[in-house]
Order: sequence, then structure tokens, then C-alpha cells
Amino acid sequence: MTAKAFPALEVWFITGSQHLYGPAVLQQVADDARTIANSLDASPQIPVNVVFKPVVKTSEEIHAICQEANAAANCTGLITWMHTFSPAKMWIAGLMALQKPFAQFHTQFNRDIPWDSIDMDFMNLNQTAHGGREFGFIGARLRLRRKIVVGHWQDEEALARLDVWMRAAAAWHDSQRAKFARFGDNMRQVAVTEGDKVAAQMAFGYSVNGYGVGDLVAHVNTASAAAVDALVAEYESAYVVAEPLCKGGAMRSSLADAARIELGIRSFLTDGGFAGFTTTFEDLHGLTQLPGIAPQRLMADGYGFAGEGDWKTAALVRAMKVMGTGLAGGTSFMEDYTYHLHPNGMSVLGAHMLEICPSIAAGKPSVEVHPLGIGGKADPVRLVFNVPAGPALNASLMYMGKRFRLLINTVDVVTPEAPLPKLPVARALWIPHPNLKMAAAAWIQAGGAHHTGFSQSVTVEHLEDFAEIAGVETLLIDRKTEMREFKKELRWNDLYYHLAQGL
Ligand code: MN
Repeated sequence: MTAKAFPALEVWFITGSQHLYGPAVLQQVADDARTIANSLDASPQIPVNVVFKPVVKTSEEIHAICQEANAAANCTGLITWMHTFSPAKMWIAGLMALQKPFAQFHTQFNRDIPWDSIDMDFMNLNQTAHGGREFGFIGARLRLRRKIVVGHWQDEEALARLDVWMRAAAAWHDSQRAKFARFGDNMRQVAVTEGDKVAAQMAFGYSVNGYGVGDLVAHVNTASAAAVDALVAEYESAYVVAEPLCKGGAMRSSLADAARIELGIRSFLTDGGFAGFTTTFEDLHGLTQLPGIAPQRLMADGYGFAGEGDWKTAALVRAMKVMGTGLAGGTSFMEDYTYHLHPNGMSVLGAHMLEICPSIAAGKPSVEVHPLGIGGKADPVRLVFNVPAGPALNASLMYMGKRFRLLINTVDVVTPEAPLPKLPVARALWIPHPNLKMAAAAWIQAGGAHHTGFSQSVTVEHLEDFAEIAGVETLLIDRKTEMREFKKELRWNDLYYHLAQGL
């Protein structure tokens, strides 16, 4: 990876000090801070531009830079560093005004103690070890949400922690202005896909609004014959086309219908500046098929999507896609569909009616058309593929009445023991951690949804950093999960968030 994943975004590098040391030391602090900021900026591990800002030494300077960051449209957050001591009462006004995420980089300019030459001048200049603690205290005292990264600024492991946080901050930045379109409402009677859209906008910034399917159909109907032909040709070059959809095939016209739907949705999303959308098979008036290949390909382009009106999962998939920008592996809408409960290898077959993102495909997908038992429309066109074996996770966002809960389960995708020749949808087979029985019991105990964001690029740490910025509960089911402790965590979290949120 050479180019930055987010070339338009900035993180500001803010160094704290004080006037006590005199101009010579402050000049050295500024020079060292600039060296570190420039080194981060140039690092292929760092996904955004890192911008050096002048060393802050007073409460007024700190407040001013925080206000400036709030107003800067392309600034996603701050990295703070204490080269020296920086008395933290100076930071109260600025940090209380700061509306952008921040990470405390607990680093020091020199990696090693210069054993032979170290004297009190050196000690006065290089005080991160205690300066960072003073700064950390005020973060804790103000109960600010933040990430703390410890290590030398050339330590690749420390840079990896910063990279993850910057990706979470980029997704947060995106979420603040993201708009999601719901075509139709919720799948009738379903509980977990409901939620408070006003609460979501307050918690994550994004807005969700409904649109009649007729508004979408108007876009579908304006797609030109030439554009449909061009998109069908694109399908033919990108995928293995099943025989009934080939030229002269019995279902050939279905492929053009699917292409027209994709063009219509794409046009609607582009015109409205949307970051994602939902559909529902119960509301398809004027559409010939349930959109299948269209949301699959739109997800691959970075749009958030979920079926059955599930806007929370659509927004989560979008955030995961932003976090995973440029990383190996993909992210998709997913659903725990059916189980393999054989005692030697219990696993979950994940899929959906149609809409799994080809960013997680192993090899070239095939484009196929098959009947769909529900919805009462023509047979929908979809991409069919398997997902490569390897580590992955499922994440689910639920609305618990007064707040949101993010639930994560790490899994290992495995290769099915047989090819599933009659299964007409994209699918992934995985073994959840710590095992299927424990994972499913804990997931259900926590109220986890059947819909998830599934990813082979985004990690638990990305999601935890994102939830920390948002102030949302995170629950992790992994190799260490034990039910007795997990149930206690649920109860304690209920109490904590009730108290922390107040009225
Ligand atoms: Mn579903």
C-alpha cells in the first residue's frame, strides 16, 4: 500500500508543553514534534495526512486549536503528545470544547536512554513518561473517550495501533454526514431491525429517511437502453454468466432487468448523495425483481446495505467499509442462516436471500437467476460465490431501548466439506469463537441480531475504537468468552450505561 487510504483527510499532531522551560527547549520540542509528525505523515502504515501544528503552551492556545479542529471540515481528529510536562489544567477548556476524536500518543523522541551522556538537561527535555500521565489524568477526570497508544514513534506495532484508530476516526467522520435511504419500510413484524432513528442520528450523526419505491422506479425507468446494454456487457466480462442468462438464453431479459434496477438505484443514490440503502421484499411495487446483483455490486463500491429495511446494519456495513478502505479482504451484509451441528465441527452457514457483497468472494462470481420463494416477483438475478477460508468477524448493532449495543463475534471461515451445488446464493461457512454452542448462546443472551456486518478486513480493534468514539457499548464474543462472566458484563453494562447516560 503506497497511496494513502484517505488522501482527503487529516489528523492534527498537537504537542503540549509550557513556558517554564524557556525558548531553547521549546524550539527543540517544536523541532522534534515536527520530525515525528512528518515521519507519521510519510509512513505507509498511516492512512491519513498527519499535519504538524505549533506546540501549545497555554490554555488559550489549546482552546484555540481545539476550536479550529472542530471547524476544520477535513480534520478527523487529534493526536496529542506531551514531549515535556504540560500542566493539565491548561487542557480543561480545550478538551471540553473538542468535538473531534483524539488519541494520546505516549511516545518519546529518543527510543533509548543515552546511558553515558544523560544529564538533567536531557531529563528536562524528555518527560513523556510523566507528562503523558498528567495529560492522561485530565482525560480520565473529564471522562473523555479516547485511545491511548504507547511506544516509540518508529515502532511499527505502535503505528499499527494509530492506523486502526485513524480508520475508526475516518469512519466516524463519514458517519457524521452520511445519509441512508430506505426503500419501503421494515419487514413486517420484525423486532430487531427496528430502532429509534432520532437516537441513531444523535449517537452516530447519520440520518435515515424513507422513500417510496415509486421514487426509485422512476430512476429505474429512465435508464437508457444503451446504458443497460453496457452494464450487461460489464456483467459478462466480470462474471461467469449462467447459461439461461447468456445471449439467446431463456432468461436473458432478466439480466437486462437486473441491470436496469442497478442503474436506477445507483442514480438515486448518486443524486441524493446517499452512503447506503435498504430494500425490503415486501415492498417492490413497480420493480420486476427483488434487487440482488444491484446491492451486491453497490456494496462492493462502498455503499452500506442491508435487507428487510435494516438501516442499522446498512449503516454499520458502511462504517466497516470505510474502516477497511484499502485493506486486504472484504466486508458484507450477512445473516446467520443455517447450522451444521455435527459433533466433529459445528459451523454456521452464512448467506442471505441474495445480497452478499462480492468483495468477500473467493474467485470469479457466477451470475445466476433462480426463483425466490417469497416476494411474488420475477426470478431475481444474483452473484453466487464462496468466501475464502481465514479469520473474520461478525458485528451487529442493536437498539436496546435507550441506547445502542455493538456485539462482535470473531470467527474462522472454513472451506465447506462439499460443494453445495444446489445452493443458489453466495455463502460463507464459519466456526465461531470460542465454539458454536457458546457463541450462539452468548449472542442470543446479548440480543444479537440475525443480520450482521461480516468482515475479513476490519478487526475487533477497529470496531472497538469506533464504538469508543461513539460512546456505544461494545461486547466481544471471542476465544476467551465464558458465559458466567459474559452475563455479568451484560448486567454491569446495563447499570453503567443507565447511570452514565442519565436522563
Ligand atoms: Mn434477512
